[in-house]
Amino acid sequence: MSIMLVRRSCAGCGETDAAPLFRELVSCRKCGLIYYPRLLEPGEAERLYSDEYFAGAEYFDYWSDRATHESNFRRRMRQLSPWLPEGSHLYEVGCSYGVFLNVARERWRVQGCDIAAEACRVAVEQFGLDVRRADFLDVPLKRGEVDGFCLWDTIEHLDAPDKYLAKMAEVLPPGGVVALTTGDIGSWLARKQGERWRQIHPPTHLWYFSEATLRRTLERFGFEVVWSAHIGMSRSLGQIVYSLTSLGKARPSLLHRLCVGSGLARLSLPLNTFDLLMVVARRSAEPSNTVRRSAA
Ligand SMILES: [Zn+2]
Repeated sequence: MSIMLVRRSCAGCGETDAAPLFRELVSCRKCGLIYYPRLLEPGEAERLYSDEYFAGAEYFDYWSDRATHESNFRRRMRQLSPWLPEGSHLYEVGCSYGVFLNVARERWRVQGCDIAAEACRVAVEQFGLDVRRADFLDVPLKRGEVDGFCLWDTIEHLDAPDKYLAKMAEVLPPGGVVALTTGDIGSWLARKQGERWRQIHPPTHLWYFSEATLRRTLERFGFEVVWSAHIGMSRSLGQIVYSLTSLGKARPSLLHRLCVGSGLARLSLPLNTFDLLMVVARRSAEPSNTVRRSAA
């Protein structure tokens, strides 16, 4: 039997017994959730999500691709609309530059937070959004103040998603919703590619949900999944070429530089690889006490 020091407990069930999988990841022996077991050092998250994250580290240039992000977020807004009445209060956790909130305020009252200082500055100064630079766990919110939370490609980054879900369950009224997107490690592509799957990059991605482990994690906090789908996304040609040829390299590849120089980088291409999951979950009447206690 292999012995492994697991320092992070499973956000899906609270246990710490996990089996090594690949590339430092482990799989929870109780609920099957796959995760990165090392806890981040103090300040490590802030360093990971410095300005470079959105311009060179993970995204080639998030801000200049915003027309593509906007069209994705318009589709996201339409997908969320049946579950959140117009005029409701929507709070985005991990709102980045506020591109989604800027679209969503056509329909809802919006607020958000992010730990990335530059992204928050842009959200406030360029869009005039009510966005604060803070960890969501430190944001004071009263019970019933928010009708819906959204986390787009965020839950996999969180140090302790169980604490976030517990707080959302505390704040939301019965019937309130949590909507989120994340990679699906149970998808055909993820299973086929194994450790080479593009979503696997610890320690920015810490949690690797499947449809089943995500559903169980949400249920643990009193949320019932009411809608889920593998969603498509448009990506700029510049971002696609950058991801394929330049991610993690010292400088962008020749192909990427040619792409930018020719103006082709802005071209937007729709693509569904069926490995990105969107879920809408509704808060049931009362989360169970056991669950709330174990997440405290
Ligand atoms: Zn577990």
